[in-house]
Amino acid sequence: MLDPFGREINYMRISVTDRCNLRCVYCMPLEGVQLRPREEYLTFEEIERVVRAGLALGIDRIRITGGEPTVRPGLVEFIARIKEAGVRDISMTTNGILFPKMAADLKRAGLNRVNISLDTLRPERFKAIARLFDDPQVVLDAVEAALELELHPVKLNMVVMRGWNDDEIVEMARMTLDRPIHLRYIEVMPFSEAYPFSEEVLVPAAEIRQRLMAEFGDLEPLKEGVPGNGPARYWRIPGAKGTVGFISAMTECFCAGCNRIRLSADGKINPCLGHIHEYDLKPVLRDPSATEEDLIRAIEAAILRKPREHNFDDPNGEYTLRVMHGIGG
Ligand code: SAM
Ligand code: SF4
Repeated sequence: MLDPFGREINYMRISVTDRCNLRCVYCMPLEGVQLRPREEYLTFEEIERVVRAGLALGIDRIRITGGEPTVRPGLVEFIARIKEAGVRDISMTTNGILFPKMAADLKRAGLNRVNISLDTLRPERFKAIARLFDDPQVVLDAVEAALELELHPVKLNMVVMRGWNDDEIVEMARMTLDRPIHLRYIEVMPFSEAYPFSEEVLVPAAEIRQRLMAEFGDLEPLKEGVPGNGPARYWRIPGAKGTVGFISAMTECFCAGCNRIRLSADGKINPCLGHIHEYDLKPVLRDPSATEEDLIRAIEAAILRKPREHNFDDPNGEYTLRVMHGIGG
């Protein structure tokens, strides 16, 4: 369906859990994570009802995210059920740690493709950023598993932070030279309680592009993009099998093309990450007298309140109440 600004909304990102086996500095506090009582979270059956209602509105592309989606038991069966319900494109974002063991089952269930997060290739830095784990090789194994299972396009997410990992921008890009890997550099967004966002940490996409061009020469812009539903803009290092992309929410606003809504693990629709407003589906989902039509209307109402653009550059702007692990990126 169309939102008030004429944007076709056909994509829902679903956070199936806000738990995680890592504590990335830009996403989740190391200690004191507030986990709500179990009954506040949607069951997979309830999420499936939301997916079916979304399908009735034309939302036929789903990304599963978290927290870390692979830590929630029942994920494989859930993917099989929403595939059967008619979701055309199912993708997942994962930190990759549990992925190698689950990859074949996920593929069999209907997972079409995967994005894997990898900020650094160096163990000591991995530990400094992700804090509960120190072996990037496991994440590289996840990338291998995804390539072997042809979960294309296989995308890598690198949140770039000045002084933390920005000296690996070029090294990471080399991974795209001889494999069909699509590396996306993500500008860090101001969400975390764990690491206070600051201008010093943000590396603008334009600077990353310059650094790549200084190393590899001119990058070729990809007019047709890389299949997916996201806002990344892609380039290719001449002769490379993969691509490099940029998710530059902070410096290159892409709100005009936004096609998505988000569902949190506790059943709230967030139409825009850059705003505080959320719309709770739980009352409808748990009201025995409510119909599936009521659920469809509740999702529609949230889409009709989708703002024109995010608030990130407003110093008094109020963003989503959640840190990233609660909304899933
Ligand atoms: N746990 C999974 C993972 O890390 O891939 C999925 C959830 S995670 C919240 C989704 C994506 O959001 C990851 O690629 C992560 O790097 C990114 N992310 C988390 N916090 C961020 C922030 N403050 N700014 C930009 N990206 C962020
Ligand atoms: Fe967990 Fe992903 Fe957040 Fe890292 S970015 S703490 S892996 S949810």
